[in-house]
Amino acid sequence: MHKRRKFTLFKGAVFILCSLVFLVLTHNQCSPDKKQTSEEKRSELIQPAKWWEKLPRPVYANLEKVETSQEWFEVYRLTQDTYAIYEPFQFEEAISYLALGKKRAVVIDTGTGIGDLKQVINELTALPVSIVNTHTHWDHIGSNHQFKEIACFNDKDCIRKLQEGADTQRLLPSVTGDSIWKPLPEGFDSSTWKIPPVEPTSLLENGDLVDLGERTLEVIHTPGHSPGSVCLLDKKNKILFTGDTFFPGPLYAYPEDVNIEDYMASLQKLKDRMDEYDYLCSGHNDPWIKSEVIARVKKAFEEILEGKGEYKQDNGIRRYFFDGFDILIRADMIKN
Ligand SMILES: [Zn+2]
Repeated sequence: MHKRRKFTLFKGAVFILCSLVFLVLTHNQCSPDKKQTSEEKRSELIQPAKWWEKLPRPVYANLEKVETSQEWFEVYRLTQDTYAIYEPFQFEEAISYLALGKKRAVVIDTGTGIGDLKQVINELTALPVSIVNTHTHWDHIGSNHQFKEIACFNDKDCIRKLQEGADTQRLLPSVTGDSIWKPLPEGFDSSTWKIPPVEPTSLLENGDLVDLGERTLEVIHTPGHSPGSVCLLDKKNKILFTGDTFFPGPLYAYPEDVNIEDYMASLQKLKDRMDEYDYLCSGHNDPWIKSEVIARVKKAFEEILEGKGEYKQDNGIRRYFFDGFDILIRADMIKN
């Protein structure tokens, strides 16, 4: 009996050892993904380690939270007929908005596409819904494919990005490693996930009015963050939906898409109309920001370009620090 037990123990040990060897080997087979993720790991200046430790952001404690069946999103009611749909578990902290009129509703941007946005919208309104994209970077168009009517600014770059979508290789770093801090939705497979291409069904021009029935959104072309970026002005509620033209985080002034001169001209355009809105609903982090910041962003860009301001630098990128926002810019874009 004793001997037999020893033999069983030995067999057990061999089994565990073999399992370990197998695990190590198969893990190595998975390493290309891992390597790709770490190679593409963004600078600490752009994606700080444990970025989620600063969550929840203080603003959310003062907003009315709305429960839905979709755990990936947090939904907040900003006004009687405006909702913010926030994705706090992924690094981008993308925010989409639902604006209701008397006749129809629009969804302003559609987030990363990780969760089931359409289901959330269905639970919030029975009105006919269409999409208006503030711009077509991947983290704003993720769920466009769930909807039939899609609008973006009439700009070839904007349209092309919608038509291209985004492939798994491009997206993988955003749903692995430190980009995520809560489980992805059930059934979500990051190894095959992609953002499907879509065709815009209508193209917007500067000054267009999107009529929702006793509520209109004015399209203000604000190139800079990307050539086809727009802000949407809701005069009735005195809200400006800014997309990525402003959000309270590091504003991106370094990628290829960005044109600083256009960006500053757009900020001036928004500054000139500051008496028409009190709050900004931004594309990331925080959905309810006092409008005064717009004037300070314009000034911040001017100061940076004059060689002023506090910054940290890594790999040719500088992060400048301001009250309520930062600016990421390439060092070679600045004179001194
Ligand atoms: Zn963007």
